[in-house]
Amino acid sequence: MPAQTHLFRCLKDNYGVLVHDPATGATASIDAPEAAPVEAALKAAGWKLTDILVTHHHADHTDGIVELKNKYKCRVTAPRGEAAKIPAVDVQVAENDTVSVGSLSAKVIETPGHTLGQINYFFPADKLLFAGDTLFSIGCGRVIEGKAEMMWQSLLKLRALPDDTRLYCGHEYTAANIKFAKTIEPDNKALAAREAVVARQLAAGEPTIPSLMGDEKKENVFLRADVPAVAAAVGLADKPPPEVFAEVRARKNKF
Ligand SMILES: [Zn+2]
Repeated sequence: MPAQTHLFRCLKDNYGVLVHDPATGATASIDAPEAAPVEAALKAAGWKLTDILVTHHHADHTDGIVELKNKYKCRVTAPRGEAAKIPAVDVQVAENDTVSVGSLSAKVIETPGHTLGQINYFFPADKLLFAGDTLFSIGCGRVIEGKAEMMWQSLLKLRALPDDTRLYCGHEYTAANIKFAKTIEPDNKALAAREAVVARQLAAGEPTIPSLMGDEKKENVFLRADVPAVAAAVGLADKPPPEVFAEVRARKNKF
């Protein structure tokens, strides 16, 4: 049976999302920014929390873990590389490990850059990607602990996923990301079309995610550092993609 998802807002601009296995009733919260909105989402969906799948150690992804674990006795899965910085971890995982949520299974993809231990959960049967703060819709996370080259290699791993993969990210940043992306690719028609869709979604109070990986490949400038027009736009024609990516990321930091 296909996985079911339930997306909700929490904190200032974070997204929480629940992944539910209808066959067994198992339900995972992807990260736990704060407990109350996760509990409200569980109640609204009528699901019981069995797992928390943590993407990285930042407080806006982990602050709700202890309260939820105390209440639901759920299992907490977290990246091995930063498990010491995350509370109440039961299971540590790394690249290519399989994580089960009832009968659903996810593959762990390591993407160092935003943090050194950051991981993503990819459910291949349902083509669902939970990317934390690595890949945003039309954006990517700040390169805080790693280096730009490392982040580019990490993004390439996610870009290699199927076009019909649904991308769930940790924040609602899409409109601001589009505004920036247009400064690099003002003539990108797919990006312009996406801008119109996003404006309609936000005006209607709807989330702009999940997006499709195939669309991100065409519209997300951070996945396009190896497109000659992008390199030229930042004055780095014929330079290697990691260098182009680093420049694009640096410009976004100042935007
Ligand atoms: Zn973060």
